[in-house]
This record gives sequence, structure tokens and C-alpha cells, in this order.
Amino acid sequence: MYLMKDIVKEGTASLYEKCAEVKLPLTNEDIECINGLHEYLVISGDDAACEKYGIRPGVGIAAPQVGYNKRIFSMNCTDFLDENETVYSYTFINPQIIAASKEMTYLPGGEGCLSVDRDTTGLVTPRYYAIKVKGMVYDFEKKRPKYVTMYLEGYPAIVFQHENDHLDGILYTSKMYKPEEIPDLKPLYTIPDNQEEENTEE
Ligand code: ZN
Repeated sequence: MYLMKDIVKEGTASLYEKCAEVKLPLTNEDIECINGLHEYLVISGDDAACEKYGIRPGVGIAAPQVGYNKRIFSMNCTDFLDENETVYSYTFINPQIIAASKEMTYLPGGEGCLSVDRDTTGLVTPRYYAIKVKGMVYDFEKKRPKYVTMYLEGYPAIVFQHENDHLDGILYTSKMYKPEEIPDLKPLYTIPDNQEEENTEE
């Protein structure tokens, strides 16, 4: 399994490179990476496991973050703003954003990243509120990729955009602003004044 020592950190050249398209059939290395990324997110969702393995919790992780520069990423997040608390657990292969809303939003507590160790509190990253995406997702039961088109909005859309940026060598730290710097930008939700928001690691 991937541990913190395997995570490529901000400042490393390979993290800023455009990743290569994945060709079918998947190679053993592709499948190893797919399984490893998914496993990291599942394991890191458990506090005790995080402590045991010394890993940081994450809702998304991209292949270049483990030194594999191909267009693959995993996300595993719960849409906490949705009353059904829908879980978005997908490992994407060659994903593409094919349409996006005009409306932009941001996580009020700012984004976080397994590759970034510094505190970026107070700065936010504008994201499309809603996106339509296509590509492949890996079917872990049938052990093969399948083609999908998906519509995402709100929190899972933000997680997708953060991870998809990694595939183009873009870190959220290169697109951080003070919320008031961007006109018409609305937070995804409002944080009560008496509450501090924790960053989400992606
Ligand atoms: Zn990240």
C-alpha cells in the first residue's frame, strides 16, 4: 500500500508535468496503481488506520502523486451537503470535463492536498459548480474499465476538478485567491462564525 513516503511532494518536477493517456488494455502497472490509489483512500478513511500507518486522510489522490504519470485518479468522498449523503467512490481513467456551469464556487475552508505540507488557510480555489465528465472508471468487481459519462455538482465536482488538475500538472496552490478578489464567486456553503473549518486533503 502507498504510505506518506510514497507521496510526491510540492516542488518535485514530475508533479508539474502533463500525464500520459492510458492505453487499453491496462498494463499490470496501471492496475497496480489503480488498486493502490483506491486502497489508500479507503484505508485513510479510518482514523485508527491513519494513526497505525502514519498516513493523512484523503478524499482524492492522483497517479502523479505516487510518481506514476498517467491519467488516473481516485476519489472517495461523501457529498455532505446532500441529504442522502451520496458517496462518490470512483477511480477514473483518461477523464475529461466536457461541459461546465458558468457558476463558480469554492470550498470556504480552502483546499488541501496530500502533496502539500504547508498551511494555505484563508485562500480559496475557484471551481466550476457543476461539470459533465466522461472517460472510464475502473470496475473493481469485474476488474476492468468501463466507459462512463457523469454529471457532478457541488462537493464531488470540486474534488474531481482538483484531481483532474493533477493530471495536467496543476496544483491547487497555483490557483489560490482571497475570496473577495474574484467577483461573483459564491462559497459552496457557509461556515458558522464560531467554527473553524478543517481542510480537505486531496
Ligand atoms: Zn491534490
